[in-house]
Amino acid sequence: MTKDLAAFAAENGIKYFMISFTDLFGGQRAKLVPAQAISDMQEDGAGFAGFATYMDMTPAHPDMLALPDPDSVIQLPWKPEVAWVAANPVMEDKDVAQAPRNVLRRLIDEAAQEGMHVKTGIEAEFFLLTPDGRELSDEFDTAAKPCYDQQAVMRRYDVVREICDYMLELGWGPYQNDHEDANGQFEMNWEFDDALRTADKHSFFKFMTKSVAEKHGFRATFMPKPVEGLTGNGCHAHISVWDAPGDKSRANVFATDTGNGPAGELGLSEKGTYFLGGIMKHASALAAITNPTVNSYKRINAPRTISGATWAPNTVTWTGNNRTHMVRVPGPGRFELRLPDGAVNPYLLQAVIIAAGLSGVRSKADPGKRHDIDMYADGHKVRGAPKLPLNMLDALRTYDKDKELKTMMGEEFSKAYIKMKHEEWNSFITHFSQWERDHTLDI
Ligand code: ADP
Ligand code: MG
Ligand code: MG
Ligand code: MG
Ligand code: MG
Repeated sequence: MTKDLAAFAAENGIKYFMISFTDLFGGQRAKLVPAQAISDMQEDGAGFAGFATYMDMTPAHPDMLALPDPDSVIQLPWKPEVAWVAANPVMEDKDVAQAPRNVLRRLIDEAAQEGMHVKTGIEAEFFLLTPDGRELSDEFDTAAKPCYDQQAVMRRYDVVREICDYMLELGWGPYQNDHEDANGQFEMNWEFDDALRTADKHSFFKFMTKSVAEKHGFRATFMPKPVEGLTGNGCHAHISVWDAPGDKSRANVFATDTGNGPAGELGLSEKGTYFLGGIMKHASALAAITNPTVNSYKRINAPRTISGATWAPNTVTWTGNNRTHMVRVPGPGRFELRLPDGAVNPYLLQAVIIAAGLSGVRSKADPGKRHDIDMYADGHKVRGAPKLPLNMLDALRTYDKDKELKTMMGEEFSKAYIKMKHEEWNSFITHFSQWERDHTLDI
């Protein structure tokens, strides 16, 4: 039965709903709706001018209505009189095909028709900065190898604990928090879930982390490479496919004992191997989604960081439990895609994983040779593995050439995304920088 939001408000003392949708660039856009008005909004949606956000629309388009998905509702633990609810954009009674949450929902349905239910866990790394975003928030956080720094994580205990407590309250199953590999960087982990739920949690986690950081006088950023020379913000995704969604899932289709074909390498079933094959095949193109900003390409393809390793890939390779590759198979029944970064759109991340994986299963894609080497030291010895795109334009062009992936993601979405991202690239490339003055003035 669909949850009645008005009743939910009355039961939980909610005064306002934040009806939130995510645009093509990952921006979360919301209307604050008083609980007294939520019944109509639950039926008709909240109105938005799509053009005013990063959607490929004109000012002449009709209203875009964001229909709340009551299953996604979350009472804000730090402001319990407000509840956040993810919404599906609709225009003239049709799903807006380019809207990221709709792209994901459609792909989830497609996979379900083939008996595949994707579950993922993500690792959304972030930095804590000063409010103006210019410096790390902790001037004492200067260690050359800051990963797991016990002293530094305790200096930000109040922020980390508050966020983790909220995840406990929300039943997300958080299980560890740490200081990551860059000064000022943290990671908090919670349990994997169905792709749509993980996408909603990912969105909410960003909102929550930014909100709690602000409350404590800091600024949280998920920017892929906020500080030159330090490790960037990854958003690794761990992926498995199950026989049924939610609590109904019994068998992990990627595990080798579930009748999904003979065991492949490293404890992935045949279906799991094909799914991985799809990710490998489309990797350079899907980088346009998983690494969506100009800054993303300063994280991948980066020179060595001060800590000794970037922990980000630059080549399309896979291996076992070894963190120097684009894909790691840490154990039986799942794999980790290490390509995505903190700027990734939570819905498009899940969507592109399903799109590429499903196309791999359909075409029985071979993931290619496994390379059990240290890619940072010996990557130059690997022959035939594609290099990841070098910049955003390179990625967009590669995506544009990948007809199969574009179709899987939806023609309308792909067209809108490529167009809007090209406009962003053009804005970047026409911007005059100090670098070009320094290198050109006296030529
Ligand atoms: P690491 O840093 O070693 O890559 P983390 O512990 O930080 O790993 O994150 C692992 C993520 O993978 C968590 O979200 C976890 O719930 C998720 N995960 C574990 N098993 C699976 C699985 N079978 N399918 C999908 N995600 C999984
Ligand atoms: Mg108005
Ligand atoms: Mg981790
Ligand atoms: Mg990490
Ligand atoms: Mg990881």
